[in-house]
Amino acid sequence: MSSNNSHIYSKIQTLHKSFEHEQLFRSLKNISPTDSPHYIEINGAKLLNACSNNYLGLTHNPEIIQAVQKAVEEYGAGGGASRLVSGNCNLYSSIENTLIDFFELDNSFSSLVFSNGYAGNIGILSALGSFPNTEIFMDKLCHASLIDGALLSGAKIKRYKHNDSTHLEALFAKSHSLNKIIVTDGVFSMDGNLAHLNEIIDLKNKHKAFLVVDDAHGIGVLGEKGKGIIEELNISHKEIDCLIGTFGKAFGLYGAFAVAHNEVIDFFINKARSLIFSTALPPAILSGILTSLEIVKRMNAERSRLRRMSIELRNTLQTRGYKVPEGITPIVPIILGENEKALTMAEKCLQKGVFISAIRPPAVPKNRARLRLTLSSGFEEKEIDPILNCFE
Ligand SMILES: *Cc1c(COP(=O)(O)O)cnc(C)c1O
Repeated sequence: MSSNNSHIYSKIQTLHKSFEHEQLFRSLKNISPTDSPHYIEINGAKLLNACSNNYLGLTHNPEIIQAVQKAVEEYGAGGGASRLVSGNCNLYSSIENTLIDFFELDNSFSSLVFSNGYAGNIGILSALGSFPNTEIFMDKLCHASLIDGALLSGAKIKRYKHNDSTHLEALFAKSHSLNKIIVTDGVFSMDGNLAHLNEIIDLKNKHKAFLVVDDAHGIGVLGEKGKGIIEELNISHKEIDCLIGTFGKAFGLYGAFAVAHNEVIDFFINKARSLIFSTALPPAILSGILTSLEIVKRMNAERSRLRRMSIELRNTLQTRGYKVPEGITPIVPIILGENEKALTMAEKCLQKGVFISAIRPPAVPKNRARLRLTLSSGFEEKEIDPILNCFE
């Protein structure tokens, strides 16, 4: 303990004791690579990685790796400065234009790359919510980064029951705020289900609200061309005021983006503090993203296979008596309830050679601890078998 004996030390110790008591204490695991992209090594054991968001296996795609390597030679290793100073490497605008093509939009839309989804959401929501007389309506299960961004904005915040548009409408009825913002995940990160976007869009239009959809887990994975929830539900992009995606999941790299009307993107460039006051991404990452965008577009066969595998796995686990919600995404949650149950089950999986991490509060509500199993389109039958062996 430090010699100055600040009270913070005793607060930290008390907190850790209560974490341990509730089986909520977390520690970092050392993950080493193996000779196969689907396997990792923890404490000398080779384990199938069944909890990454690498849905299309692109973290190890040779074309992307080559693009990254080439760009390091050409541009150097680091971003050097904020995008608003000297860090706005030309690859940024290439990606931003490619994104508009990816979503098949006209020139009234632009996109903006952020350093990661967390930073993007903090910047976007703190900017959007900063006008006086603003109220943010968010789904109860929105990702933590959206909640944090909303809190940072200083706007009033209302959380509606998960996917419950009747509750959202009731909250609207009680609201006197001039500016209303609705915020939802597209695919919910811990449950793998989809937002009821059609109902939300009706309410948005009726109440002249601004709609933000964070489709971090949907883009790349859903829809024939990988455009995510909007393509899956056949929704016009014009209905979404701000669509957010990340390059850290299906795209296999790092970074994030927003797509919105030109003036909204200009507003983010001027007001999103996480963009303004932070170093640009390394150019090599940008080069990898550019290649990944081209590849993801053509991965429809992989998307179909992933969807089929995900649905089959859900069915098998349900037949075996596990509590697994219906769904079409590669996020397959096995709801176990108490934290201890989730930890015991995760340990059992480790012993059978499969890494699936236990998800506990605050990532999920109390008594909804789970294993969040995720599939990758590259998994072969021989990689599904050990997963099934864990849940007999
Ligand atoms: C993962 C995630 C983020 C954060 O994205 P990063 O790029 O990992 O920082 C934001 N929103 C949602 C819904 C996510 O699942």
